[in-house]
Amino acid sequence: MTPLRTKTSRSIVKNSANCSRFVGWATALLALVGTAAPNSASAWNAAGHRLVACIAWDQMRPETRVAAADLLRGHPDFARWQKRAGEDSGDRGVFIEVSTWADEIRKDRRFFSRGSEEPTPTLEGFPDMERHGDWHYVNRPLDVSSPAIGNVGTIDRQLVALRKTLGSPGTSMLERRYSLPWLIHLVGDAHQPLHASARVGADGRVDKLGNGFMVNNPFNSRKPLTTLHAFWDDLPGPPWLRGERLDTLCRELAAEYAPPSKSTSSEWIDESWRLARDHAYPQSNDAVPVIDEAFYAASRKIADRRVAEAGYRLADVLNQTLVPGGTSTERSDRIRGRAP
Ligand SMILES: [Zn+2]
Repeated sequence: MTPLRTKTSRSIVKNSANCSRFVGWATALLALVGTAAPNSASAWNAAGHRLVACIAWDQMRPETRVAAADLLRGHPDFARWQKRAGEDSGDRGVFIEVSTWADEIRKDRRFFSRGSEEPTPTLEGFPDMERHGDWHYVNRPLDVSSPAIGNVGTIDRQLVALRKTLGSPGTSMLERRYSLPWLIHLVGDAHQPLHASARVGADGRVDKLGNGFMVNNPFNSRKPLTTLHAFWDDLPGPPWLRGERLDTLCRELAAEYAPPSKSTSSEWIDESWRLARDHAYPQSNDAVPVIDEAFYAASRKIADRRVAEAGYRLADVLNQTLVPGGTSTERSDRIRGRAP
């Protein structure tokens, strides 16, 4: 059993799935899950979000990268991202670090959760200090005949609103700077199958986003018991994935998956909902189903493809909104060397 941190290739990342990629951080994840509200959702872990941003950056036009880097440089948390990026603190490294910011503010005391905490003072450079926990998902019943459920989440609306903010010339710089990290993150979230779902069980219990559904995952030998949501969040890779190992996996995913056809953010969410309905839950009547090898392999494949699709689509959205005038077709041609 070779620790993942000494390896770089995707095949080794995959082969080590039974052991070290789940060890250590699984404990922290389970601790979080144990205290989380049933509706909580962080979506892809940090590795998933960094991979989305990495793929996107590599697909973005040079002028889009400049525009994105300029916006991020003016964000009040730029120095934090730069510090965390360490040796990769150039424009690309910061862009990748930014992808997890919307999850990190959940633990940041400068911010507050509306409805359960007193508002915190609005700091310079922020339009507000809300954590906006409901921006990360939307609860759509997998069985369309289910009764309406509360706390439905707003990722569908936020994706449209953030894109509009970034693409409108009249928007203030403060709003644009604030919106970019959110858009980078939420495009990733929208592609996690369980971020668009809610399932009503035979006992009438509502399982929002797979957070109330426990599974036994033997591919995590130390902490096999986890929620289905966390199982899916962790499929792209270990959350410490950065630097050369991240770059290798990022390049391999882009090589394996071609850019998806043009689609809207509403369609990304529909895709996630269908994946959740058809593939996200193990077929078992057990109270705590055991993840078998076939389900694990199929889930890994879906997660890989969704991360790649999110990366391509994020690049497409930013190419269109940050530097209007270029089309996605022009971008694809340029990447393939067909354009001058
Ligand atoms: Zn999220």
